[in-house]
Amino acid sequence: MTATAPITQDVLTLPRKLPEAADGRGNLVGLTRAQLRAALIAAGTPERQAKMRVGQIWQWIYQKGVRDFGAMTNLAKDYRAHLAEHFAIEVPEIVSRQVSADGTRKYLVRIAGGHEVETVYIPEADRGTLCISSQVGCTLTCSFCHTGTQRLVRNLTAGEIVGQVMLARDDLGEWPEPDRAPKDETRLLSNIVLMGMGEPLYNFDNVRDAMQIVMDGEGISLSRRRITLSTSGVVPEIARCAEEIGCLMAVSFHATTDEVRDRLVPINRKWPIAELLESLRAYPRLSNSERITFEYVMLKGVNDTDADARRLVKLIEGIPAKINLIPFNEWPGAPYERSDWEGIERFADIVYKAGYAAPIRTPRGEDIMAACGQLKSASERAARRRVLEGQPAAAGQPPA
Ligand code: SAH
Ligand code: SF4
Repeated sequence: MTATAPITQDVLTLPRKLPEAADGRGNLVGLTRAQLRAALIAAGTPERQAKMRVGQIWQWIYQKGVRDFGAMTNLAKDYRAHLAEHFAIEVPEIVSRQVSADGTRKYLVRIAGGHEVETVYIPEADRGTLCISSQVGCTLTCSFCHTGTQRLVRNLTAGEIVGQVMLARDDLGEWPEPDRAPKDETRLLSNIVLMGMGEPLYNFDNVRDAMQIVMDGEGISLSRRRITLSTSGVVPEIARCAEEIGCLMAVSFHATTDEVRDRLVPINRKWPIAELLESLRAYPRLSNSERITFEYVMLKGVNDTDADARRLVKLIEGIPAKINLIPFNEWPGAPYERSDWEGIERFADIVYKAGYAAPIRTPRGEDIMAACGQLKSASERAARRRVLEGQPAAAGQPPA
């Protein structure tokens, strides 16, 4: 035995440098419980109290939506002041909010460094889905995707990812009354899809930490089955996703031959269809109640023939799956057209008759460029932003 104090797990999990709030204080949003505990201790909270303090602060931040330490009434006044001196509770800022005729809300969100990402809220009869971004831009260059035309600027931090959920709840007015945690069914924001900008599996650790915060029963408390992560097919990370996050999986499939998929989803050159399917067959959580969603964008004359539909069902044979057919959403300069409606229905019919659910995704928020694949950082659309900024009502009003 040596005399040196043991290095605890918590010390090891403290990020080398706490994420900074705008004024330089450490930002607590996005820290895992272990990281939060370590940060409190490092700032002087006695170790024996730390666990309890983590629980208290966690509930204020993630269950009640409080951003001001002063409002944390179950903590001593001095301690609240101490916390405020060292820390902040900061979520990214909504720069503008656009509301579509169909109720879809698109938030333009500013993160540290002046970068911007988009977050989309889609209300439906039985649920409200928030589509969140994981990166500014994307390293991949899928030829039908607007985000793919923007180079990767950086990964979002865990705080910026969970922050999108928090700012949407701010805007929806959905923080509960004290001690009345909402039930999933009654929620405005009941589901999350990681289908915004970026490839979530190329920012795995931050996405995992953020989703663990979202799922934590003492906070936002969303079930893992209400979270769907969409990947273009980063094969080595797929099993990890089941093990470390446990959410549902969606895959941007989009083609039935390697030749076409190489062109549409270039990551296919690295991990071709056979390897991708193998990793999905082995997905640890696969079952009939937790099927894999195959996303399939319908591009006229490219991937939408009857033969494609038949090849698709053959390829996925044996995988509990649902096929989400996405009519291509156009964006300025896009090199593709949307398949004809009859073609999409015929495709859906073939897939359905083979025993798979094959819903055709209704494009939502097209009028505000919020539909799948239309998102692109407004840093590249600065002129448009200047027009939007500060405009209330239709063009969106930042929350009070
Ligand atoms: N990067 C991840 C998640 C973001 S994209 C991924 O690729 O899976 C979310 C979904 O929208 C993907 O299935 C993507 O292929 C699809 N998509 C991208 N551009 C589109 C467009 N213009 N029209 C319709 N769907 C599109
Ligand atoms: Fe990136 Fe997904 Fe768009 Fe491909 S489809 S460029 S992986 S965001």
